[in-house]
Amino acid sequence: MQIFNTQIELEGFLSKIRKKGIKLGFVPTMGALHEGHIDLVKRSVEENDYTIVSIYVNELQFNNTNDFINYPISKDRDVEMLKSVSCDAVFMPNKEVMYPKNFKKITLDIGMLNKVFEGPLRPGHFDGVLQVVYRLFDYIKPNTAYFGLKDYQQCLVIKALKNEFFNSIHLVFCPTVRTESGLAMSSRNQRLSSTGLIEAAFIYKVLTTIRDLSVHIEAFDALKYGRHLFIQKNIEIEYLEFANADTLMPGKNWFKKNKNIVLVAVYIEGVRLIDNIVF
Ligand code: AMP
Repeated sequence: MQIFNTQIELEGFLSKIRKKGIKLGFVPTMGALHEGHIDLVKRSVEENDYTIVSIYVNELQFNNTNDFINYPISKDRDVEMLKSVSCDAVFMPNKEVMYPKNFKKITLDIGMLNKVFEGPLRPGHFDGVLQVVYRLFDYIKPNTAYFGLKDYQQCLVIKALKNEFFNSIHLVFCPTVRTESGLAMSSRNQRLSSTGLIEAAFIYKVLTTIRDLSVHIEAFDALKYGRHLFIQKNIEIEYLEFANADTLMPGKNWFKKNKNIVLVAVYIEGVRLIDNIVF
């Protein structure tokens, strides 16, 4: 597996690949890899001739400095995991490579997406995501890029980025990979104690309960019950809401079949965890 640290190394290599018409798959990550990331990589390896993964902890997208400082880093382990699934290359830039002095920030109005759920609660987060993914797409120019539906709102933000700047890049959104307990895999789970991990598994139980209740009762009542379940367990809720899965427009009643999403953000042992369920 090749390891690139600078844009020059990367560009030199990728220009050869592009000339040969090789199909290039790309998986952007912040490292501390787990099975959720690896699932995206495997999919890319299956569907492309060459797969490149980026590892970069993007300070710009952290609205909370502590969260950035505490973000887990395990580069050697990450490299081994990527080798084991036949990933072809990893791009690990530093800050100067990612954001050179003269870099130009892009602006993109993502409208509603900045006004709901993660938008207002994490000011600057999606702008940071847009800056880094724009630069990575621009450096790498993949045929296909892979993202996880665990970060559902982020998927819609990336779709807006593609529509504005990168029409030729095909996006693939992959289902959330969970542990046996139902907990969505996340690099942040590493910061939980064994008790915290058991508590965190409750998140998906509440989401599936709400989904199952949706057949019988109205959204408002199902969410109320879901909130009650979290409160009973002393889990701090930041939001537990439902919306139209295509637009993330919140509503009062369930939307037509197959369009509902319930999104949740909670704190467990001071760690912010998000998850969602579409039905
Ligand atoms: P991150 O390193 O957290 O920025 O995540 C990199 C990519 O992996 C993003 O597209 C995430 O949505 C995706 N991802 C993270 N966790 C999971 C998971 N449990 N299942 C599927 N995709 C995931």
